[in-house]
Amino acid sequence: MSAADETAIQALSAAGAFCGECGFEPGDRGCPDCERVWAGYVKALRAAGWVPRTEGLIEAADVAYAEGDRLYDEQGFAAAEAAWGLSTVLRRMADPSKTGQDSAATPLTQSGPAQPDPTAEADRWNAANPVGSLVVAYPGCRPEGNPKAKRLTTRTRTKASVLGGHTAVVWVHGHGACIALTHVDRAQEGGAS
Ligand SMILES: [Zn+2]
Repeated sequence: MSAADETAIQALSAAGAFCGECGFEPGDRGCPDCERVWAGYVKALRAAGWVPRTEGLIEAADVAYAEGDRLYDEQGFAAAEAAWGLSTVLRRMADPSKTGQDSAATPLTQSGPAQPDPTAEADRWNAANPVGSLVVAYPGCRPEGNPKAKRLTTRTRTKASVLGGHTAVVWVHGHGACIALTHVDRAQEGGAS
């Protein structure tokens, strides 16, 4: 049972819905028959088209994001950007505490002192490049190593973070996996790219 269903059951209980036979008082957890009655009510509400606001927004965000991916494949970044942007707005409406940070992003972790410091690298990137920055990303190898390197003109969709304690990475629109910051160049807004 989802958290939203649980919330709906609490509301039904608070409103006095019960099985009709036990010694139920509004707000009680109720007897097993009450549980069955409430589950039936919630099922009926969903069948009638009721959807918790958060679930509806996240579903819409996912649809908008998939539409962006489709547009990206067919028409390129400029066509996809509006759909991805809409998806971000919908996701933020669903959970205002998340400001565009991808839920799949790996949290910042401390690196060993002897290594180059990926945490500092991520911090530097985040200070200079807010989420949504225009970038050219190379998911495979960089163009210096291979002129046929896959090149992605896109925008970041998360802050930079440290993957596995060793590599500073960021997520961009149009690519599912994270990309090392060494493979992401900031691009000029409005410039020819
Ligand atoms: Zn009952």
